[in-house]
Amino acid sequence: MEELLRRSEKLTTVGQLAAGVAHEIRNPLTTLRGFLQLQLETSKFNSRHVDIMLSELDRINLIVGEFLILAKPQATRFEEKDVRFIFGDVISLLDSQAHLCDIVFETDFSTDSCLISCEENQLKQVFINVIKNAIEAMPQGGVIQVEIKRGRSGHVLVSITDEGIGIPEDIIPKLGDPFFTGKDTGTGLGIMVSQRIIQSHYGTMDIVSKVNVGTKVTISLPLLMEGHGDL
Ligand code: ADP
Ligand code: MG
Repeated sequence: MEELLRRSEKLTTVGQLAAGVAHEIRNPLTTLRGFLQLQLETSKFNSRHVDIMLSELDRINLIVGEFLILAKPQATRFEEKDVRFIFGDVISLLDSQAHLCDIVFETDFSTDSCLISCEENQLKQVFINVIKNAIEAMPQGGVIQVEIKRGRSGHVLVSITDEGIGIPEDIIPKLGDPFFTGKDTGTGLGIMVSQRIIQSHYGTMDIVSKVNVGTKVTISLPLLMEGHGDL
């Protein structure tokens, strides 16, 4: 029950979230203003300050970008798609970035079709968020395993396993809280946005992790029943 309550508390409305976003953006804006003022007063170009200003701008951009996915008017169009192909697209998208970080993908996809009803771009966003976290958790490189298989009771299970730094046990309950981040440059919105999207697809997202061993994220989504294509 307590868990239920905690979850429902997390379901903040977009409006409440907007207040948080505004707050998060105000900090980098204050920094930007300060440095601009300084440039004006000293009329000196300080490249270190400009670097900071650029990274603060990037941070604002990142926060607004992730927020937009949530705030976008829900004109979502659910379509029948095979989750294997959606994930395949995401891997091709991130392959070169992973390669640069000495990371390789190992995939094990079901031989059966895995048709689900989904908003393709939102689901891609989820897979991108999870894989980005995996990449960021492996600064020395390694393997990211992606498995797609049919689970019990008409669900497809998508699991993403990394060999990264892992997540301390006491941190796990905080995952999905808006703006909770363990990174210097994180937004702390990735998991929350992903959970929301998975919920809107009637699925679940489960994270298990061990420090210095790695993290496994499992997403379960309801499969479309076969043979009802024209219903
Ligand atoms: P962000 O990545 O912007 O920090 P997220 O919501 O995506 O925000 O993740 C929140 C935090 O959860 C991360 O900062 C990190 O501390 C932790 N985390 C998430 N995924 C992983 C992972 N695969 N390995 C290690 N830590 C992770
Ligand atoms: Mg992230």
